[in-house]
Amino acid sequence: MNNWKSEQVIIVGGGIGGLAAALALARAGIASQVVEQAAELKEIGAGIQLGPNAFWMFERLDLVAPISALAVFPDNLIMRDSITGEEVTRIPLGAAFRKRFRQPYALIHRADLHRVLLDACRASSLIGLDAGQKVVGVDDKSGGVAVTTESGKTYRGAALIGADGLWSTVRQIVVGDGKPKPAGHITYRAVLPTADVPQEYRWNDMAFWAGEKVHLVLYPLRTGELYNLVAVFHSNRYEEGWDSYGDPAELHERFAQTCAPVRMLLDKIESWRMWVLCDRPPIKDWSRGRITLLGDAAHPMLQYLAQGACMSIEDAVCLADKVVAAEGDYAAAFLAYQQARYLRTGRVQIMARVYGEFYHATGVAKELRNMMLGSRTADDAMAGMEWLYDVPKELMQEISPRARGEIAREASA
Ligand SMILES: Cc1cc2nc3c(=O)[nH]c(=O)nc-3n(C[C@H](O)[C@H](O)[C@H](O)COP(=O)(O)OP(=O)(O)OC[C@H]3O[C@@H](n4cnc5c(N)ncnc54)[C@H](O)[C@@H]3O)c2cc1C
Repeated sequence: MNNWKSEQVIIVGGGIGGLAAALALARAGIASQVVEQAAELKEIGAGIQLGPNAFWMFERLDLVAPISALAVFPDNLIMRDSITGEEVTRIPLGAAFRKRFRQPYALIHRADLHRVLLDACRASSLIGLDAGQKVVGVDDKSGGVAVTTESGKTYRGAALIGADGLWSTVRQIVVGDGKPKPAGHITYRAVLPTADVPQEYRWNDMAFWAGEKVHLVLYPLRTGELYNLVAVFHSNRYEEGWDSYGDPAELHERFAQTCAPVRMLLDKIESWRMWVLCDRPPIKDWSRGRITLLGDAAHPMLQYLAQGACMSIEDAVCLADKVVAAEGDYAAAFLAYQQARYLRTGRVQIMARVYGEFYHATGVAKELRNMMLGSRTADDAMAGMEWLYDVPKELMQEISPRARGEIAREASA
């Protein structure tokens, strides 16, 4: 092993992005130490959608089989009007979609995705995983990096990746741009056992009812054992906050004008968890010497394109590639990494806001949305997603011949 590879990289944050980074580095033979503030390494929350772009990364990380075993592969993405209940548009996700993007679209429980990453990290002798350590200080003045935690522990390494999410401490050291910006949108999330979902809504689709100033998402999880519900509405009541219990009365008030199926589904949930949605404007410079950022710490985005976690996994693979290419010159590698990523992630940040406007449109904007989306063919819809679901070619470069063979067979099927 090259010497530089054994000098560990410190990764602050053991969420999806931090674990993906540890794994991507380990797959390249590079040691890392993950430092997570929570008492236990785990994910809260409910479902997560995985675009075809994420599956290219799972190929790179050798995770396709464990992810596929836990994921649901939906038949369609469907948008309905939340007042009339009528379908506005759909993207079929079957053979034509898989042939076009050469990868599937999937739905998975966050905890399952995190567990797959964690198991893979635990299986690697190159990855150290410490929980219950909140990083409060960073020092990069002595040729390497050192982080100190609230409990007084110090970790030293060759470089540092801040994968510490929306409220990143490392970002304040590297960029120093204060708190993220609340979008004025609130999300309530819950999961429902399939037995509690009326038969006609037990679809194998990622479907949502859109507008006005609200939307409700319903899709299956865990091979159909559960249904994931995500209710979003506009409110300036909350300045900030994360993962607290929601107030069902406010939710029902906001959704009062929606069609009967939406209100019926909201009635099924007794306990919701609430997220106050925030993002930041895109930036192009999120590295300083041997320190860089990844995932939500670098480019937090609203969830309307369902891509925050997917982008963090793409970041991880790209970052490891750049470190290998720079043979351990971390400052050069981190500049190359942010250069490769900022336009793609910035585009997703901006377009996620635009999609939020479409989903919550009222008046003429809503009529226009229904007209424009309603007249699309499936081919038009897929063409509209190429910029996102086709990953940059350089991220595909390491795909194994075995995987390539499988993809070729599928594409010609
Ligand atoms: C409602 C909603 C729905 C979403 N749906 C999707 C979807 O369908 N598809 C998709 O791809 N994305 C989705 N996302 C986005 C996705 O959840 C995030 O982009 C992703 O989880 C970011 O991962 P991360 O590892 O960068 O950050 P996080 O998951 O926030 O992880 C950061 C970690 O760092 C730790 N940490 C923070 N500070 C410190 C510190 N000082 N010291 C040590 N540890 C620290 C935290 O405890 C946490 O474990 C959604 C987001 C929301 C809010």
